[in-house]
Amino acid sequence: CGIVGYVGGRRAVDVVVEGLGRLEYRGYDSSGIALVGTDGELTVEKRAGKLANLRSSLAGYPVPPVTTGIGHTRWATHGAPTDRNAHPHTDCHERIAVIHNGIVENFAELRAELEDNGHKIDSETDTEVVAHMLEEFADLGLAEAMRRTCRRLEGAFTLLAVSVDEPDTVVGARRNSPLVVGRGEGENFIGSDVAAFIAHTREAIELGQDQVVRLRANEITVTDFEGRPVPTRDYHVNWDA
Ligand code: GLU
Repeated sequence: CGIVGYVGGRRAVDVVVEGLGRLEYRGYDSSGIALVGTDGELTVEKRAGKLANLRSSLAGYPVPPVTTGIGHTRWATHGAPTDRNAHPHTDCHERIAVIHNGIVENFAELRAELEDNGHKIDSETDTEVVAHMLEEFADLGLAEAMRRTCRRLEGAFTLLAVSVDEPDTVVGARRNSPLVVGRGEGENFIGSDVAAFIAHTREAIELGQDQVVRLRANEITVTDFEGRPVPTRDYHVNWDA
């Protein structure tokens, strides 16, 4: 139900969990985060129930001080609100993590196809197929993998993904579901609404329908699902948080 992403110079876990807190008003049944570091490690923590449950899990071990991360609050549509069905979802080798708001309408067909190709799907969600499809296209880089994947998806979605192969990058995509970039200095944010990052920046870019964004600390690149660059327009968020 809520989505936050961060890439920059700060501890991503702090920025992302704080952003999730600001999205709590939307309602949710589970929450989770994924962090990627330059050492090739992916950290995923996810819990059913309140954000407090996620916070206490994260307090239980030394969370890597990495600077790229994504976070999710879930409103379950496919699969019960359990720890296992909570987002992020990962590919078979736990190299790519994905969060999703919305519904992938054709997930059953995609799931059958992926299982035929040897993928093992772990959860009952419509979302997990996306992680496995990104894995199929991983050699093309995360942004291109996302574009290829989105061309196959039906329904409504906001997606964010991270990969251990590109620890300085967050990739996002949207169709029929909102996604807004927050432009910082030497850092960038992304969220399902501006509340996710309003504490840090008021310079925003609203993504259009069927667009993919690649976010790095000093880069915001937006294309359509075919890879064609699309113009973006910055706007200033005026309301008080
Ligand atoms: N359809 C997905 C699920 O049930 C995402 C739900 C959401 O928008 O939070 O896991």
